[in-house]
Amino acid sequence: MLFPLGCAGFFLSFYISLVLLLFFTSYAKLITMKPYNNLSEALQQRFGEKLYKLTLNIGCTCPNRDGTLGTRGCIFCSAGGSGEFAGDPRRTVTEQIEAGIRSLSKKRPATRYIAYFQAYTNTYAPVDHLKKAYTEALAHPKVAALAIATRPDCLPSDVLELLSDLNKQKPVWIELGLQTIHESTASFIRRGYTLPVFHQAAEALHARNLEIVTHVILGLPGETADMMLDTIRYLNTLPISGIKLQLLHILKNTDLAEYYEETSFRVLTLEEYADLVISCLEICRPDIIIHRLTGDGPKDLLIAPAWSEKKRMVLNTIHKELKQRNTWQGRLYFPTKKGIPYTPGKQDKKKGVPQCPKLKPYTS
Ligand code: SF4
Repeated sequence: MLFPLGCAGFFLSFYISLVLLLFFTSYAKLITMKPYNNLSEALQQRFGEKLYKLTLNIGCTCPNRDGTLGTRGCIFCSAGGSGEFAGDPRRTVTEQIEAGIRSLSKKRPATRYIAYFQAYTNTYAPVDHLKKAYTEALAHPKVAALAIATRPDCLPSDVLELLSDLNKQKPVWIELGLQTIHESTASFIRRGYTLPVFHQAAEALHARNLEIVTHVILGLPGETADMMLDTIRYLNTLPISGIKLQLLHILKNTDLAEYYEETSFRVLTLEEYADLVISCLEICRPDIIIHRLTGDGPKDLLIAPAWSEKKRMVLNTIHKELKQRNTWQGRLYFPTKKGIPYTPGKQDKKKGVPQCPKLKPYTS
């Protein structure tokens, strides 16, 4: 007899197995969970599976390149407009999506994807062109969401309305390249817009329920660790949903490469970078999703820092250090008082009191 106690025995065994299964599942989750709000787990929770990005190129340019604001781009931007891994703009969006799925599924079989408009400024084109491209991507049955990389000064009202309409069909998040909140650095890197422009764009996107992901570069020349942390403290006060932390890469054929050759300015070491990333995580608002802890510089263009070529090793170093320090995202986060926005350098770290008359606070 399989269950000597009959039916009661069966249910007892079933119950014990269930408890053990739940215990081991939760334990496994606990030991694999990262101590920060990471994209992979956030996607899993939201969509029930891990989604991968398909990088697309719809032939946009950028006001920093087409002569509107400048012709040489941001000082660190490569000729590919930060979209070296994006698709071929001569192909349709559907063709690029299909090609991306074919190439990704060899390594990472997935059922759904994020269509990522990556190269240059992906809202810098006539609204009809954008509508056609975005709609084509959204219509693909395997595309679960859109991610659109752009600049905050390239979001006119007709584009905002388009994005808002599309967001009602599938999630649309907008990636804004802020890099830093410091105007001196912004002017040095030739970003081409001021902080209030970013601030207003973030509010306009938020008012339309569009999710905002912000790019931040760590290691820009002239910035101290505290200046970089100020950028995170400022972002904590805004209705953003994600941050991409990116190490400054010095790439061939950029003005930054020339500047590096002339001045040999000091680039971050791996240890300094890991330390900075952890400090950023510690003060970062806990609900903000960390989309990236470092970037993927194109290897054939990378001049420095050479260690950044080994992305897996960089991530392992950061994860190991997080574990050793027994720390986590938000450990040192102090919410700012509602109604009082943040001023770089003046934050009372205990009370989290910021003041900046030009900026409005995040009050949702
Ligand atoms: S805004 Fe982006 S695409 Fe334009 S120059 Fe700067 S980094 Fe390159």
